Amino acid sequence: MREGSLEAPTRHPIDWQSAAFYDEKACFDEMERIFDICHGCRRCVSLCNAFPTLFDLVDASETLEVDGVDRKNYMKVVDQCYLCDLCYLTKCPYVPPHAWNVDFPHVMLRAKAIAFKKGTPTKFRDSQLASTDRNGKLAGIPVVVQAVNALAKNNRARELGESMLGVHRDAWVPEFAPRPFRAVAASAQAKAAREAPAVRNGQRTPGKVAIFSTCYINYNEPGIGLDLIKILEHNGIPWVVADKEACCGMPKLELGDLDGVAALKAANMPALARLAREGYAILAPIPSCALMFKQELPLLFPSCNETKTVQSAMFDPFEYFVDRHKDGLLNTGFSTSLGHVSYHVACHLRVQNMGQRTRELLAMVPDTQVHTVERCSGHAGTWGVKKEFFEGAMKIGKPVFRQMSAHPKGPTDWIASDCQLAGHHIAQGIERNQFPQAPMAHPLTLLRKAYGLP
Ligand code: SF4
Ligand code: SF4
Repeated sequence: MREGSLEAPTRHPIDWQSAAFYDEKACFDEMERIFDICHGCRRCVSLCNAFPTLFDLVDASETLEVDGVDRKNYMKVVDQCYLCDLCYLTKCPYVPPHAWNVDFPHVMLRAKAIAFKKGTPTKFRDSQLASTDRNGKLAGIPVVVQAVNALAKNNRARELGESMLGVHRDAWVPEFAPRPFRAVAASAQAKAAREAPAVRNGQRTPGKVAIFSTCYINYNEPGIGLDLIKILEHNGIPWVVADKEACCGMPKLELGDLDGVAALKAANMPALARLAREGYAILAPIPSCALMFKQELPLLFPSCNETKTVQSAMFDPFEYFVDRHKDGLLNTGFSTSLGHVSYHVACHLRVQNMGQRTRELLAMVPDTQVHTVERCSGHAGTWGVKKEFFEGAMKIGKPVFRQMSAHPKGPTDWIASDCQLAGHHIAQGIERNQFPQAPMAHPLTLLRKAYGLP
């Protein structure tokens, strides 16, 4: 057998609707098989805490092999995996079509799904955190929003939140916006439709865009979505906001709540598939949400035609803009330099396998030097705010914090990550470690500034 695969990785659909998927013994057998291969390889030791946890268990066992590890301890490994997918897509030579068929993240997902069905001690807290759409709707009610934001800054409330909800008192948590992005954009959409320029389709890019706003942009930072609209209008690209939208399902996937993922998929697909069929490019300005539609949902629902239609229309915004540039249809008349930008490539963007589109585009701005940092920040959605994982998230991210604060060309003018949660986590890590600080902005905000748009 060949050592390592030379072919492009493929991925098997996830058979989550069969009873066999929830067979705990079969899942643990598969974990043991994969853990044994990983123990002989150890290539992924620096990626996250899952691999060091596994190797420590093996090294402390009597046999010094995986068969010496008590299966009860396997969940310690599972708990450390936040499904970033980096091991599968950037490191592992034994993924399919290699005969060893190693899919570390998806066996972790299976174990999480079994644990979720059985009910874990932190199920209530985890489910609350993963209900991003519901939380946004509740917290976005006028008056409630001010109260929620005030409590997030109150030390006593944070201590209570830690003991009752398990959210670490020091973790950065987002504020809720007084008006969601979708409400603001809906008011602007009618005017935009009246004044919409003609659609110019490119070879690689549809000439009109539908925005899947994402829970984070919708409820927490609508300004990033408004920056996207300004950039689209500046480039003469007609836009609409998806008329119906629920959470993409990634936070529930990370918990193993696959029935929850299915319910959200059912809510999203009809409206998104209609937009895709009408020829819109669908842009999701948070990498995890775009990844959900590009990769995870197609693997969970391999025979769903709507899912395939949406998959082929889904773009990361910078993927779309760089393709637009290749089509000769992007305005590159930048008027404002950005200086020294430390740019972090989020894991869920890396695993979309499209190269560093954000870096490419920001580097086109005159007098702008982009310093790229390609490592896990440690935040990983809701994982890094949990009481038991926050310090681990800070430890994983420390090399990123240091590199982001030290632009090789001189003092850093901006720090940025396509994942705005990672951006805030990095800014907090830089401050906590007393590394030199710089303002943080989303790359879409930087692009809007580079165009000189107010
Ligand atoms: S998916 Fe990410 S967090 Fe999970 S084991 Fe792989 S590298 Fe670690
Ligand atoms: S996931 Fe693959 S590359 Fe990583 S330790 Fe296991 S076998 Fe090695």
